Amino acid sequence: MEAHPSTALLTVLSRFLRGTRYEGHLQTLLECRPDIDRESPEIFFTAVLDAMRSNSDRDALTGLLNTAALEERLISAMAFAKRHGSKVVLLTISILEFRDLRDSLGRKKSDFVLQWLAQQLRTVVRTEDILARDQNDFILGMTVRKAEDVEHIVSKLKDIFSQAVPTLEEHLLISLMIGASVFPNDGDDVDDLLIKSQTAMRRSPGECQYQFFSDEMQKGARDRLQMVQELRDGLERGEFAVYYQPKIDLLTGTILGFEALVRWIRPEKGMVSPGLFIPVAEESGLIVPLGMFVLKTACAQLKQWHSMGYMHLQMAVNVASQQLRDDDIVRVVEEILTTTQLFPDRLELEITESSAMVNVEKTIQLLVALRQRGVQIAVDDFGTGYSSLSYLKRFPITTLKVDQSFVRDLPDDLDSLEIVNAIIAMGRSLGFKTVAEGVETFAQETVLRAAGCHAVQGFLYSRPVPAQEITPLLGKSYR
Ligand code: C2E
Ligand code: MG
Ligand code: MG
Repeated sequence: MEAHPSTALLTVLSRFLRGTRYEGHLQTLLECRPDIDRESPEIFFTAVLDAMRSNSDRDALTGLLNTAALEERLISAMAFAKRHGSKVVLLTISILEFRDLRDSLGRKKSDFVLQWLAQQLRTVVRTEDILARDQNDFILGMTVRKAEDVEHIVSKLKDIFSQAVPTLEEHLLISLMIGASVFPNDGDDVDDLLIKSQTAMRRSPGECQYQFFSDEMQKGARDRLQMVQELRDGLERGEFAVYYQPKIDLLTGTILGFEALVRWIRPEKGMVSPGLFIPVAEESGLIVPLGMFVLKTACAQLKQWHSMGYMHLQMAVNVASQQLRDDDIVRVVEEILTTTQLFPDRLELEITESSAMVNVEKTIQLLVALRQRGVQIAVDDFGTGYSSLSYLKRFPITTLKVDQSFVRDLPDDLDSLEIVNAIIAMGRSLGFKTVAEGVETFAQETVLRAAGCHAVQGFLYSRPVPAQEITPLLGKSYR
């Protein structure tokens, strides 16, 4: 049977467009334009090319405006607003943790989520509004009387996104981050307004709550950017050091091992707290090389203490979620263990509850691979995250670290006491070791011992210090 002319034509056309900027537009175009006559090859071909020309301002995946068209439309909207004394609000809408979502769902499904989101956004905007996609962000430009008029549209979005994405097998709830900048209040340059709206979006709390841009935010963003550069330079110049904090065995009163904690020692500026730079290192991805440096340094140091005869000592190293994204971590750990000849069970990796919840399947797979090689796995800051224990049971955990926020108010605060007792009892019953962090007083130690806690760590015994200050402590008893 002879093929339908338009089908043959379609094949020719898509082959013809392969590798051009129109590739991918064809399908969207056909869906958007059922009116094009597919019976006559000439009419069809001309109509498709015409439509294609006019469609070049569309984003191929979602059919929304692309960024070039967005800019043009915004310029005219701003000119209109100027004449009529109104305002243009620019909303940047983005899915919270979209990159993690993409990592765990794969490209196809996450593209589908973007398409679905585009469709939902279409239903809430007015025809005169400007709606565009810029990679993983959606931009909505609206002419309004006063900036607060966006409230209305945001509340509509809230309704939609309180439900799960309907067509995915996984029960996926989306949390939207929304940022807003306003013409003329925040400026009159499109690029500048877009950046401001994006900056505000990153500061938004998620859950469809929007956040207006403010000047402090820009300062914050500039500071962070500067810190990223300084972190990068600092890494190159070797400004980072590893400090060690002993962990004390409550049964024997001796040091059983250490936690390695990174320090940034800046020439002329002194020591910067990890609380300040770790989040920036995580955001920028620099935590990966930094984390590797800590891991290698700490293992080399442990090897040295082992060769002094303290073979039982163990080393715990904090691992960020970005380090648990690919098999590299397993390879690096294996490499380190081979070159240092350390027993694998002397190395413990600390992950936080929340980092375990990112990209769950991959994280489990990597942790299982590490565990199979004998490495120990601790959950850091346990009790502060949102994971349930039944969930955590899927992870190959060996140790729970009771967060210092529960230890701080011991022994007087009854809530803390109950929580600590429960965590330790539960940890023990599941066969985990328990380590309490942030122990500063003997009274806290007494309560923890009574609760059956295995080990403690805190200023009561030692602050985190450089390796040379640890060496004289190695044989010490803390009883
Ligand atoms: P963390 O892993 O929970 O580490 C324990 C933190 O509690 C350390 O803060 C330690 O100095 C502090 N601490 C220890 N004993 C006491 C005490 O008795 N009282 C009080 N108030 N605090 C105590 P630090 O060194 O400032 O590190 C803060 C956080 O930064 C760490 O929390 C960890 O999440 C992160 N971090 C540190 N080094 C690294 C690293 O190499 N890689 C990664 N990914 N994160 C790191
Ligand atoms: Mg830790
Ligand atoms: Mg901790």
